[in-house]
Amino acid sequence: MTDAALQRTLTSLEGLSIADSLGGFFEGFGASSIHFYIHSRQLPNPPWHFTDDTNMALSVVSILRQCGEIHQDKLARSFGEHFDSTRGYGLGARALLSRIQLGAYWRSLASEMFGGAGSYGNGGAMRVAPIGAFFANDLGAVVKNARLSAEITHSHLEGIAGAVAVAVAAAIAVQSREKGYSPPHRAFLEQVIVHVPEGKVRQGILKAIEIGEKVEVKSAAEILGNGSFISAQDTVPFALWNAARHLDNYEEAIWTTLSAGGDADTTAAIVGGIVVLYAGLDSIPQAWRERREPLPAWYLEETTPE
Ligand SMILES: [Mg+2]
Repeated sequence: MTDAALQRTLTSLEGLSIADSLGGFFEGFGASSIHFYIHSRQLPNPPWHFTDDTNMALSVVSILRQCGEIHQDKLARSFGEHFDSTRGYGLGARALLSRIQLGAYWRSLASEMFGGAGSYGNGGAMRVAPIGAFFANDLGAVVKNARLSAEITHSHLEGIAGAVAVAVAAAIAVQSREKGYSPPHRAFLEQVIVHVPEGKVRQGILKAIEIGEKVEVKSAAEILGNGSFISAQDTVPFALWNAARHLDNYEEAIWTTLSAGGDADTTAAIVGGIVVLYAGLDSIPQAWRERREPLPAWYLEETTPE
């Protein structure tokens, strides 16, 4: 791995985790408070606690740092070891990760979920942008490693497709920045969709291309979803639609994402992990960076056994 790959990966993690922690703040709020903060763009008081999106992304980054690729057994072990019930994990993830923590083998558990169909939740997508950053110049490796990272908890086709789409979008953001090319909304999404397998996530991204960037956020969320059903297909198309509209403006990208409500920490985490790769680390306001609680040291230090 190169230093540049690791730096990009950490940049994506920063964009992801700050957006997640701001989004997570609104989860416990009533609608009128959310409306007040978002429309006045007032920052909640610190500390902003990160949620499961970031906590699992830390494991992804840790394994990339250690192995230079996604090693599924090690990633499953890291997910289990760092499972923290205070971080807002979904019910399925809770059941799965607490069993992995007790020593169960992930491969038999993940495909047993949901009557053998596997999960199509948005959890594979929420933590995957750093993989797109890491392998940015090799889209084949992006797709392969995104898939491997999702399968541990989200073995359903849609769960995997959501992760692939987000990771590819992150890679395209890096490539665009490196070329000094500002991709139009449609062109950005068209570059992503080439790599997304058939299914509802893909259909949602097609719809995102079709409605175009000028539609109001609220209407786009009504058409594409806002994560309310916490499925990949209900989350990823909207997040990509909005990331593509604000690739050069992290702050605007996150506020507008949050304004759609729904699974706001996750839609924001996805958007933040992608947009920061194009807009750059400096695009994250200093006041936001100071408010997020510090990330733990383990993801830069741990050695994960198989
Ligand atoms: Mg969360």
